[in-house]
Amino acid sequence: MFDLKSLYQQVIVDHNKSPRNFGKLEPCSHDAEGYNPLCGDQLHLYLNIDNDGIIQQVRFEGEGCAISTASASLMTQSLIGKSVDAFKQLFAQFHHMTTCDLDEEPDQATLGKLAALAGVREFPSRIKCATLCWHTAKAAIEGATRAKTE
Ligand code: ZN
Repeated sequence: MFDLKSLYQQVIVDHNKSPRNFGKLEPCSHDAEGYNPLCGDQLHLYLNIDNDGIIQQVRFEGEGCAISTASASLMTQSLIGKSVDAFKQLFAQFHHMTTCDLDEEPDQATLGKLAALAGVREFPSRIKCATLCWHTAKAAIEGATRAKTE
């Protein structure tokens, strides 16, 4: 039988061990810092958004738990090439996935690899680890420089 849970686990372990798009982005058009005081996760997110509102580059730096690092790594991959509007929709879907009922299947077609983080629903204290990078990206795009998960 196809074991979805262990596949998700592998994705998280892999992205935590070798985070994608890790490092500073200079110059960048937007950036913000995020902090999750409940867990101690910190990250600095950098974006380059062109004049048409398309996210061309995303990178991040920081230190955090496996969930926060894997989530940021997965997010950077899924945002490159997307419009700011598409980012907002994806954030809403991701947020829904982390807070909806346990028996609701994540929307794989839209979320792709991000669905690997659906398991945080079972651990409410980890939801903020998974959503920190998204809040930070939103803050960066909206021109704020700091994001906090509270
Ligand atoms: Zn964390």
